[in-house]
Amino acid sequence: MLAIEGLDVRHGQLVAVRDVSFSLEQGEILALVGANGAGKTTLLRAIAGAHAPSMGRILLGGEDVTLLPADRRVAAGLALVPEGRRLFADMTVEENLLLGASAGRPGDWTLARIFEAFPILVKRRGAKASSLSGGEQQATAIGRALMSNPNVILLDEVSLGLAPLAVRQVYASLHRLLASGATILLVEQDLTRAMSVASRVACMSEGRIVLDRPIAAVTRDEITDAYFGLNKAGGGNQAAAC
Ligand code: ATP
Repeated sequence: MLAIEGLDVRHGQLVAVRDVSFSLEQGEILALVGANGAGKTTLLRAIAGAHAPSMGRILLGGEDVTLLPADRRVAAGLALVPEGRRLFADMTVEENLLLGASAGRPGDWTLARIFEAFPILVKRRGAKASSLSGGEQQATAIGRALMSNPNVILLDEVSLGLAPLAVRQVYASLHRLLASGATILLVEQDLTRAMSVASRVACMSEGRIVLDRPIAAVTRDEITDAYFGLNKAGGGNQAAAC
């Protein structure tokens, strides 16, 4: 469904993503973990077309989308829920959701289904995004991405900055999405949560993927070691941690 091949992404002189390769099969949920500054957001933004890579390829459903602008990637079936939500503050929940449908992709996700999946939004559908709580904003941001009926959805730190109750509400809705067979790349700092939803985990350290394994074949300690750069054995992309 998604294949990343030898991707390098720079911020000026800094190589934030180094020689990253992995692929995602249909229905797979890959949790991407790593310390602050490891390169997770930069990688997701590059996949979504918000940041041009300096090397490598991005394939969506076998099609090379590396040079496509972000809107064409949405039309091709890729949606990003960005860190920080990035809603249109003066627009209502419903208007923000409808923007997600502007790519015109057919599929099961309609306004009605989004409100079913995210019940906390029902009473807020006419409210401006600026008046929403953090959890409501995050639900709207995920709903907006789903409205494009993506084949692959990229979720960047959906629980960041949310109160514990809001995190539980967002994840309760996400569980329904996960159960629907969606293909998901999820950046999540909370390892317990990441391991509870994902089928596979990848760990980034200093721009490289230093571990990439099925959840069933990895221990929490191995992930933690990779997270802190102690994973000398590698496990996926064979990159030694720095
Ligand atoms: P976090 O969990 O803190 O969001 P991350 O793993 O998502 O971290 P990135 O935000 O991708 O990491 O950052 C990777 C590296 O790129 C870091 O060294 C960061 O300082 C740098 N970086 C990120 N954004 C920019 C930018 N706009 N300009 C310059 N450097 C940047």
